[in-house]
This record gives sequence, structure tokens and C-alpha cells, in this order.
Amino acid sequence: WIARDASAVWHPFTQHAAWTEDRPVVVDRAEGPWLIDVDGRRLLDGVSSLWTTTLGHGHPDINAAIAAQLAKLDHSTFLGTTHTPGIELSEALIALAPKGDGPKLTKVFYAGDGSSAVEAALKIAYQYSTQTGQSRPTFVRLNHAYHGDTLGAVAVGGHDLFHQAYKPLLLETIGVSSPGDRALGEDRNAIAIAELGSVMRRAGEQVCAIIVEPMIQGAAGMLDYNASFLRAARELADAYGALLIFDEVATGFGRTGKMWAAEHAGVVPDLLTCGKGITGGYLPLSAVLAAEHVYEAFLTRPGDTTPRTFFHGHTYTANPLCCAAALANLRVMGEQDVIGQAARLGERLAKLLEPVGAKEGVVEIRQLGTMIGVEVAPRGDRTGFAVCQAARERGVWLRPLGDTVVLMPPLTLGDDETDLLVNALAEAVDEVTA
Ligand code: PMP
Repeated sequence: WIARDASAVWHPFTQHAAWTEDRPVVVDRAEGPWLIDVDGRRLLDGVSSLWTTTLGHGHPDINAAIAAQLAKLDHSTFLGTTHTPGIELSEALIALAPKGDGPKLTKVFYAGDGSSAVEAALKIAYQYSTQTGQSRPTFVRLNHAYHGDTLGAVAVGGHDLFHQAYKPLLLETIGVSSPGDRALGEDRNAIAIAELGSVMRRAGEQVCAIIVEPMIQGAAGMLDYNASFLRAARELADAYGALLIFDEVATGFGRTGKMWAAEHAGVVPDLLTCGKGITGGYLPLSAVLAAEHVYEAFLTRPGDTTPRTFFHGHTYTANPLCCAAALANLRVMGEQDVIGQAARLGERLAKLLEPVGAKEGVVEIRQLGTMIGVEVAPRGDRTGFAVCQAARERGVWLRPLGDTVVLMPPLTLGDDETDLLVNALAEAVDEVTA
């Protein structure tokens, strides 16, 4: 299978020269937190299949919901038709949306994956600016951010390599220091807030939106940061008439120990993007939760000479199977207090990881709930990768972000599997960094 894969498949984010050491697991089946390969070997899925399978694989309730929906309606376009799972899911998401003094998130726009939700949010933000009488072409973004790999999402990301690769194609953005950037030292939060303030004073009138991953920059290597940055971003967005976008694609649906990372800060954005865990990680679905005032700017009014249409919508938008899976996921989350389980799992992991953090080969452990990055000290090339390989030999599947090893297990991971996860990591760190 590996030879056939190498001859026919172009994998994402893959340098083919690296395949000799980065041999893919040929996954045949999965159950709960386990991946099972074609040779019957079991691997604990320590990253929830790219941060998605929040309830583990093959959850009976989600499977049943998909099967029941499949028997009724497999697909119907959301352009001109609607369906009950799409409506019910929108209502459920609005009921769960972060709430507070600020904007009210009252409308759901569906998309297919995290990147396309971000893309939709960016287009909404720009068009909102034109429809409220100004054309504001600039986005403010954080250094090191990852918001996906469509062109808009790359532009508002803060990854230098991606920017270099596609530079002439990218939107206008202004990058601001990240409050999670350890290279800025202890004052990083104050530095980032001051920089955001000075950017907005200089260019605020041109800015249609500030976009951030709230509380923790995931793909940057789990750079967690102080909630006060989000409160400052909210105030500055309001002061200059820009929208605030929270990208909760990674952090949403209990991943940080709360339903939304926004809740850690008590800040409500104007647009919130979510995906990954929305269906329990089963099927591709994402959404933009939009504030009422944003939606209203897209309503055509008497006397309008040009339509206020939002020019965006994909073939599989709000696919009913995906919506049914998401509804089942949210039901299970509520009935089984999955957020409480996630918070407890996060606490247990923090405790178990304490001795790992004390190891000489570990620079820092960063964590918010069940989003964890273990940064290892470089020992030659690709140390993070080598640690993941060593963990794989011990039956645990992990993926690195540079020299940061990511732990993002299912939120419902049992005690024995949690022990296996941490023990395999600890041994792998010892083997590689000793
Ligand atoms: N935003 C964030 C914060 C993400 O972490 C990711 C994916 N890691 C994306 C957007 C892109 O999502 P997708 O890969 O589903 O397009």
C-alpha cells in the first residue's frame, strides 16, 4: 500500500523526499481513540485525526444519526432549498454561541472546512465594510497565526514560509506581534496590545477586521496567551469600526475545556468561525456564526440600487449528513457533559505531564484544556518528528509542529489511554533527547 500510495497520491503538506522516513500509517479501521492499520496494529490517536474526533471514532450515536439521515435525504443544495437538520443545527449553534455584552451571534453561514469558513468570514467582513458605506481592504492578523490554506486564509495567517510561497496573490494585511510569542519575553502580552493599538491608530480606518485564534494559536505550536489581549482587541475593533473575527476552528466544541475559547475571556466577536469538532470530527462541515448587525447589512432595503447579496456558497454547503452528525454530536456533548470531561482530562494531563516538563530535553509545555504542545529541545534535525516516531513505536500516534509535539486526544479519553499517551511521550522524549 505504501508503494502504491507513493506512486499515485499527492498528500497535503508533504515533501515527497521525506517519505522514506515519514511513512504514512495505512489506516484500515478506527474505533474510539484507536486507529487500526491494515496489518491490524493498533495506534492510540493522540491528535484526534488532526484535532477533530472529539468523541473518538465510530461513536454509535453519531453513526446512527448519519445512517438515519442517509435513509431520508443524502444531499440537497442549500441554494434555494433548506432542510430540517440544517435549520435545527443553526438553532443549536446559536443557542450555544458565546454570549455577553457585545454583539449577538444570531445567524449561521455554513461552509465545508475550516479554511472555507475563514474565507467566508473574510469576504463577509470586507463586504460588510462596503455595505456600511466604506471600503476597507485591510485585515489585521497575528504573527504565527494559522487560519487555513485557501488564499484568503493564507494571507491572514502569519506563517512566513506560506507568505513567501504565494506573496503576489495575497490580500492586504498588517501583521501584529502575537501575545503568545515566547520570543517577545515576559512582556509579550503588553507588547502585542501596544502594537495592535498603534496599528489601529495608524490604519484603523482601512481595517475591515481583526482576526485571531482566541486564547491559543494552535498550528503555531500551541502558543497560549492572556485573555486581556482579546478584550483589548474587542475595544480597538469597536473604537475603529472594524469587525472582530475569532477563528475557533481548532478551539471550538470543548477542546479548551469550555465550549468556546472566547468564554475564557468573556469576549464575543462579530464573526466566529468553527469546524473540525463540529460533527464530532466525522464529516467535513464548518460554519461562520455571524452577529445580527453584520447579517442586517446584507439585507436588501427599499431603494437599494445594487443587491446586497453575499456572493458565496458551495455545492456541499450544509450537507444534511454532516448536519445530522453535528446535531448528534452536540446532543451527546450535552447529555454526557463532554465539556466537563474535557476540563477534567485537561487537568489530569497537566498533572501527568509535570514530570515530562521537568525533563532536560523539554523546553516548555503549553496547554489550554486538551490543546497541548510539548516543545522539545532540538537535537539535530526534526527532533519533534523523531519524538513522534518514537511514540509511534510505542503504540501512540502523534504529529509535531516543528519541535513542538502536539497532544490533542479525544475529549472523552479514558484513564488507561491517557496514561499510555503520556508514558509513550515521556519514553519517546527520553529516547530522542537523552
Ligand atoms: N483555522 C484554524 C485555527 C485551524 O487550526 C485550522 C486547521 N488546523 C484551520 C483554520 C483550517 O481548517 P481546515 O484544515 O479544516 O481547512
